[in-house]
Amino acid sequence: MTRGLHPETALEPRLRGMQPSITLAIQERSREREALGLSIARLGLGQSPFPVPTSVVDALRAAAPEKDYLPVRGLPELCEAVAGYHRRRHAVPRTGGDVLIAPGSKELMFLLQVAFAGELLLPTPTWVSYAPQARIAGRGVRMLPTDVANDYRLAPATLDAACRDEPDLPRILVLNYPSNPTGVSYRVDHLAELAEVARRYGIVVLSDEIYGELDFRGEHVSIVRFLEDATILSGGLSKWCGAGGWRLGTFSFPSRLRWLLDAMAALASETYSATSAPIQYAAVRAFRGGGDIEDYLDRSRAVLAGLVERTRGALVSAGADVPQPDGAFYLFPGFMGCAEALARRGITDDCTLAERLLTETGVATLPGSSFGIDAAALRLRLALVDFDGARALAAAGAGQVDGAFVERLCGPTVQAVDALAQWVQRS
Ligand code: PLP
Repeated sequence: MTRGLHPETALEPRLRGMQPSITLAIQERSREREALGLSIARLGLGQSPFPVPTSVVDALRAAAPEKDYLPVRGLPELCEAVAGYHRRRHAVPRTGGDVLIAPGSKELMFLLQVAFAGELLLPTPTWVSYAPQARIAGRGVRMLPTDVANDYRLAPATLDAACRDEPDLPRILVLNYPSNPTGVSYRVDHLAELAEVARRYGIVVLSDEIYGELDFRGEHVSIVRFLEDATILSGGLSKWCGAGGWRLGTFSFPSRLRWLLDAMAALASETYSATSAPIQYAAVRAFRGGGDIEDYLDRSRAVLAGLVERTRGALVSAGADVPQPDGAFYLFPGFMGCAEALARRGITDDCTLAERLLTETGVATLPGSSFGIDAAALRLRLALVDFDGARALAAAGAGQVDGAFVERLCGPTVQAVDALAQWVQRS
């Protein structure tokens, strides 16, 4: 063996067998199919279908010459704009000093797990990256079961039961609403009850509200209202502002957790140094908001609500069990109602279901088991994002968004879901 070239056994044991995130892997599979000239409906990666608002693009253009490294914690103007946004939306007393900016909220979640020596509580189904990040950081994860009858919302009693035996253990509860993969959110009473349990056990809540602005009724409520001193608010530009590729995420901390912010800022300073300067200047415009941003959000919500109603209807008619989303752009249908017919076709788990759907119809989805659900439950996550978002937004201002509207303006997604509905019913 050549000296200095280490065999694979030199890989950190915790990382052995780790694969790229499934959401990015599905995008690769889709590209491969396209390269072979095969058609593909991209319901796999959860990427906003809408363009970035014009005023925010203009702000980025103007900021292109900004070339210097910015402060590790973020451009002070942006930190203040994010805090102002939280004060406006949630009536909490956050200031610019409470905010940390990073290239994506995913990066911030990772830094949090490196810095916080405690257990991570994850209600399932759960977004795909929290648990792998815990594994990389060497942290323990406890999955909290939820009930499909309650559209997979975490029951306060389940949270209580998970903490009762060791009440003093440091813990972070990740609450993501509207949820990826279900689109389901929490309403006021439920959040108040969860906050009460969190307070009882001194749990820090990481409130992942990256889809909050995409609540269909524009009525997103944050748990921070009930648990200001223990809630970290997580957000960014990726979903509501259509700017996933810009890579900008935000955390805002209660003053009591300043030590955690400081530790994460130290980690940031030794890893990515600071977030891209032009993007931060442009983000100031997005977080300050205004009439054009509100109009953009109203239209986005109307299109997504109409699309969810039309496509969910098609799946329910085909016998699927589909939690009712409150926001975002996902559906999480389960096909146990078609289990016998699917089993006759050799499909008894969700990975085979997703794979066969892709090869037989060209519709790319993700299996529910990637989100911590039993593979035998035959669930898929659909991202309803394969359509021309700019055209749909422009048309949404002119009239009502109904079934006919989404069939006309979100055609590829509607057709893909209809094809899926027909395909699962085939005996
Ligand atoms: N949280 C959830 C629930 C997500 O779905 C995503 C992206 O898909 C993220 C966080 C990460 O977003 P970003 O790193 O782009 O801010």
